[in-house]
Formats: sequence, structure tokens, C-alpha cells
Amino acid sequence: SASLAELDPEVAEAMAGELARQRDTLEMIASENFVPRSVLQAQGSVLTNKYAEGYPGRRYYGGCEHVDVIEDLARNRAKELFGAEFANVQPHSGAQANAAVLMALMNPGEKLLGLDLAHGGHLTHGMKLNFSGKLYDVASYGVSKEDHRIDMDEVRSIALAEKPKVIVAGWSAYPRQQDFAAFRAIADEVGAYLWVDMAHFAGLVAAGLHPSPVPYADVVSSTVHKTLGGPRSGLILAKKEWAKKLNSAVFPGQQGGPLMHAIAAKAVTFKIAAGEEFKDRQARTLSGARILAERLGNKDVADQGISVLTGGTDVHLVLVDLRNSQLDGQQGEDLLHEIGITVNRNAVPFDPRPPMTTSGLRIGTAALATRGFGDTEFTEVADIIGTALAGNADLPALRARVAKLALDLPLYDGLENWGLL
Ligand code: PLP
Repeated sequence: SASLAELDPEVAEAMAGELARQRDTLEMIASENFVPRSVLQAQGSVLTNKYAEGYPGRRYYGGCEHVDVIEDLARNRAKELFGAEFANVQPHSGAQANAAVLMALMNPGEKLLGLDLAHGGHLTHGMKLNFSGKLYDVASYGVSKEDHRIDMDEVRSIALAEKPKVIVAGWSAYPRQQDFAAFRAIADEVGAYLWVDMAHFAGLVAAGLHPSPVPYADVVSSTVHKTLGGPRSGLILAKKEWAKKLNSAVFPGQQGGPLMHAIAAKAVTFKIAAGEEFKDRQARTLSGARILAERLGNKDVADQGISVLTGGTDVHLVLVDLRNSQLDGQQGEDLLHEIGITVNRNAVPFDPRPPMTTSGLRIGTAALATRGFGDTEFTEVADIIGTALAGNADLPALRARVAKLALDLPLYDGLENWGLL
């Protein structure tokens, strides 16, 4: 039968363009990563053909004997990797995992307490246009005005006043670790369930380089495609007693048939994440973010009114604070795009600029660490970004330095021969 290029040259051409973009530029969107060949193979496989509503051993379709093996491998590996009693690997995405978690933990109209979107929370933690904000009564905590960190005393007093059914910890844009033990203590004090959404930092947790929320939370959700480096999809972990409720919230509560090709890719991802090479990659990710935060604290950047939120990072990303700078988030994103570095503008807490412009940049190091970047390369990237943000830079010269890095550490070398295109 015809290849993609023969059958649909328009789609094939756009895909080739995207491959070239990924190869030629430096990907620093904090929520992105590059999956390995094995994950691409699992996702681009005949498993996409199979309906498998239900769970291994209890399906609503025949012919599930092989996909059962795959889903069992994925579930068991996820449990082992994170030390969890229960895993559900069916959520199509992080948002769908979170919808199922909320469906299992609470009823519509009950109260959810989460980190304010404007302070680094996620849409599914109670944003008013999201299902979470529409279905549940939402209260939020934020970061303090002084140091931009979450103040657990304040979380406690909000929780005591609001009496939520569920407290969610976890974030999309926050450069520090959260205190899961303190969240647990507050949840216990007010009689709430604790849900942790570790989507961003799951890879760091798997590598043992970030505290694990698993011992503290009733339920932990995650994406698989951020620091964890797998297929675009979701994951739920929990204590055993939540198994039945969570399984039924995912299917039939939120979803129909699971994406078995994605589940195979998740199984492969969890296998990789248990290895030494993965640990090394996560260590380089953290080190790269620290190098970047340090460079952006230099005088040439500070003179432009630009700083790094909380003064540094202990995760895979840095939040650049542009509130006192002429440059806004949109202009910063465009400037870096011009020299071949992809980041996203991001609102910072107490942001005076509108959400489409913002006063922040979120810059992550996970994808470049996967590409093989270590301290030497991250030092060079950090200097390129710092020089660009400091203003009046020779942009073509910076673009050339980016191109050299991309050339020195090529991405998807040989992919044209993998039979995927
Ligand atoms: N949870 C957090 C904390 C996230 O940052 C994200 C993604 O940005 C999600 C959930 C949602 O994941 P997805 O985009 O796969 O729905």
C-alpha cells in the first residue's frame, strides 16, 4: 500500500518541516521532550487498530490477549517505577487523567483547593472556563508577593477557612519543589483528600532527584510526555483503596476505548525511566536549569530589569520575570524564536500585562538534556539567551551559535531510515 509521502504529500511535507524544525532549533518549552525511536515505533504501530474497552482480563471486546500483556506491563512498570500501589495507564492526556481523578474524589459542587492559574497552576486545577472550574466550587492559594514561593502557613489558613473536599498540589509553572508532607498534614487537618499532579516533574521523581508525592498523596496524576520523556498521554497512581473508583472514573467515566499504541509507548517509557541513562539525563536537566538561572542573574540582564523568579530553580525550568523590563513576554518569545530557541511566554504572579502578552518566559531544559546537552552546552545556551535578553545583541551571530549547537548534537539521526515516514 502507498506510503504517507505517496498518498498524502501535503501532510508528509508538513511533517518533514516539523522534523527539520525540531532538528535545527533548540527546544526549550518546559513541557516538551523528544521521544526515542522505540516510543515512536510503539506509537506508529498496528496497536492503533485495536479496541479494548475495559481493563486487562475484563474487556468488552474479543482479541485482547496481546494488548492485555502490554497494558499489564505498562501498569506494573509504572507502579514499580514510582513505588505506587495502583496505576491506571489509560488516560489519553494529562487533562483527562485529571478529569477522572476529580470524578473519583469528589462530586460536582464540592470544593477544590488548588494553585491559582495566574501563579503557576494548571487549567484543570480549577480555572473557570475549564471543566474543573465549571463543575466544582473552586478556591485557590497563590505564591507570596515577597519571595514568589508557596507559603504553607497561608495554604493552611485558606484550607481551614474553605474546608475543601480535595486539595491539589502540583503546577505548570513554578520553579521550586513543593512540601508534600506539609500538604498532607493540612489535608488531614481539614479532612480533605490530597491529589498531586506531578505532570511537570515526574521524570525527576522517577530518577530520585525530586521528592516523590506518592507516599503522601491519596492520588497522583501525571502526563508522560514532559520530563518523563514518553508519548503525549496521562497516568494515574494511587493507594490501593482508590483502585475501583479511579478505574471506573477513567472508563467508562471519562473515556471509551484506550489508545493501545500509546499504552505500549508508555510501557516502553517506564522501562527506559528505570535505567541509569535516564537518571543521568534528569541530572543534566536539573544542572542545565541551574546554569540558565545563574546566567540570567548576571548584570547585563539585571540592568534591563529582568530577573529569575525566586532567584533560581530546583526543577527543570526557569521563570524569567519581565515585569520591570521594557521587553514583554510576547517580545521575549519572538526574540528567542528569531535566534532559533523555542520557549513560551508565561504569566508571572501579579502580572500587570494581559494574558496574551504576559511579563514572563518559561524556559525548560528537559528536551535539550534528552538531545545530549550537558553543562558545557547548557552554559553556551544560557549565554546565548542572556545575551539576547540583555538587548542590542548581534542576532545573526547568536543564531549561528544556536545552529552550531544543533549541529554538534544532532537529533533523530538516521530517522529517515527508520521506516516511519
Ligand atoms: N497537569 C499539569 C500540571 C500540566 O502542566 C499539564 C500540561 O500542560 C496537564 C496537566 C495537562 O496535560 P495535557 O496537555 O496532556 O492534557
